[in-house]
Amino acid sequence: IPAVHLSAVDKTFGAGTSASVTALEGIDLTVAPGEFVSLIGPSGCGKSTLMRIVADLEQPTSGTVAVFGKTAKQARVDQDYGIAFQAAGLLPWRTVRANIELPLELHGTKKAQRRARADELLETVGLTDFANHRPEQLSGGMQQRVAIARSLAEQPRLLLMDEPFGALDEMTRERMQGELLRLAAATGCAVVFVTHSIPEAVYLSDRVVVMSPRPGRIAEIVPVSLGER
Ligand code: ADP
Ligand code: ADP
Repeated sequence: IPAVHLSAVDKTFGAGTSASVTALEGIDLTVAPGEFVSLIGPSGCGKSTLMRIVADLEQPTSGTVAVFGKTAKQARVDQDYGIAFQAAGLLPWRTVRANIELPLELHGTKKAQRRARADELLETVGLTDFANHRPEQLSGGMQQRVAIARSLAEQPRLLLMDEPFGALDEMTRERMQGELLRLAAATGCAVVFVTHSIPEAVYLSDRVVVMSPRPGRIAEIVPVSLGER
């Protein structure tokens, strides 16, 4: 069963109005379990819309979406995937640690286990000293790292990441890239990763999906040979 299967997916915002925008047209894409796929393409080509559709945050106008053979909605309920999107989406009233624990809480994990897992993830993203801070007390890049840690909390079979390293400085980005590859290999989770950086896409991915705008389509899918990784 593929991690993600999109078939003939179209998305039009404001259909039937003069402001109608076709964000996606005829998207066919299959991501295998454990596969790392990057989406690249110019701003406005529909990368975020595609990610939001897989995450069940947006409904396609037509076409079908399956996540591990389920509807996107069911996969969301079952917490089959972790999300790290550009706007970190952290809960402002919770501490950094409590934000990371949230997916585990929803899943009914016991407190001691939640805490141990959160502490491990805080170390992975280099924020151990900020466990008891509120998100607004952190820089944008640090908030992104919290969102990444949260997306990994449940050890999901699928990670959906929309420019997760966009606000990171070069050194932190390189460290996080390495951590992500290590984690993906260790857990065997599939990753769908949006980036503006071609080198980043080539470095991280098994396949690079190149999109073109107006309407958003898949222009080509480029396998990255092991030699290039
Ligand atoms: P990317 O992530 O590649 O920059 P997006 O998926 O954000 O592209 O956007 C694709 C197109 O859909 C753009 O033309 C954008 O303006 C439009 N769009 C995205 N979200 C909405 C929305 N909620 N309402 C109307 N148009 C939207
Ligand atoms: P990033 O590149 O992760 O966004 P910055 O460049 O803003 O981080 O900050 C660099 C370092 O400064 C951080 O790793 C952190 O140690 C410290 N720092 C930044 N913002 C804060 C803050 N609000 N409180 C405490 N330390 C901070």
